[in-house]
Amino acid sequence: MNKRVVIALGGNALGNNLPEQMAAVKNAARAVADLIENGCQVVLSHGNGPQVGMLKLAMDELAINHPKYTVTPLSVCVAMSQGYIGYDLQNALREELLDRGIQKAVSTIITQVAVDPKDPAFDNPTKPIGRYLTEQEVNAERQAGHTVMEDAGRGWRRVVASPRPVDIVEIDAVNALLNAGQVVIAGGGGGIPVVPEGNHLKGTGAVIDKDWLSALLAQKINADFLVILTAVEKVAINFGKENQEWLDEIDCKKAEELMKEGHFAPGSMLPKVQAAVEFAKSGDKCCSLITLLDKASEGIEGKTGTRIK
Ligand code: ADP
Ligand code: MG
Repeated sequence: MNKRVVIALGGNALGNNLPEQMAAVKNAARAVADLIENGCQVVLSHGNGPQVGMLKLAMDELAINHPKYTVTPLSVCVAMSQGYIGYDLQNALREELLDRGIQKAVSTIITQVAVDPKDPAFDNPTKPIGRYLTEQEVNAERQAGHTVMEDAGRGWRRVVASPRPVDIVEIDAVNALLNAGQVVIAGGGGGIPVVPEGNHLKGTGAVIDKDWLSALLAQKINADFLVILTAVEKVAINFGKENQEWLDEIDCKKAEELMKEGHFAPGSMLPKVQAAVEFAKSGDKCCSLITLLDKASEGIEGKTGTRIK
């Protein structure tokens, strides 16, 4: 096959806690190793929703119960999540490759992603993070300039912006490793959002959608394929309704029409289709695929999944 592929792993590939993650990454490693065994050059990205939520909660509790520790910024929690998820993924993949007699270094790059401080998303934070807050904490958060919102009747939480990724700071490292024939895990959780201020990169309290970031990553490594692995084998129109239809292959124009008609849920399938379209539009050879983790190889061979060209 000899293709360059970005594989974006969805939340179900990582489980909801540490033991689940250890088990889940073995499954993900098998799917990724199948592609590598078939000659693909792979960069792996992944989500981090539950994981960064857990870390933020833990660090907030630490600061409350042990006042000598100050609050840990969200950007640092994203970096922590990239570290421990990458650790599990790279070891699972290393082991799976060695079991198949393949000697290839696998490494995780702590990845920062530049965002535009004027991105309109900053005026309209939408992603709830961390734990529910007391009235006192709500006031303290507001005083610190953070946005807090009522989350579906369950209580108050901090909400953060989800800006578009503009540039990947460590992209040269990703390409250097890839050109050396190595496997790279990068852009975990959509990357750590930073705002460049001269030579300084300032971490910002936002989260980038991992599907959007994966589309940018695929362009920056000159990939042939963007493979988004999630909990459904194909994308559907009229999803969950009587007249539901699974899609095999659509072009970007069709995908854009379907997006306008509201077939894809915001926050789940919509960012995937947006990412798939953005990458497919970036070059003639560029193709995006959305399918199940276990179907990745079959999908690339054109046997299943939804392709966007
Ligand atoms: P991930 O963790 O992989 O990002 P998400 O839960 O965010 O997964 O998104 C995948 C989910 O999107 C599917 O499991 C499905 O329930 C939902 N979904 C929403 N609209 C559609 C659609 N039109 N076709 C298929 N799945 C859809
Ligand atoms: Mg998602």
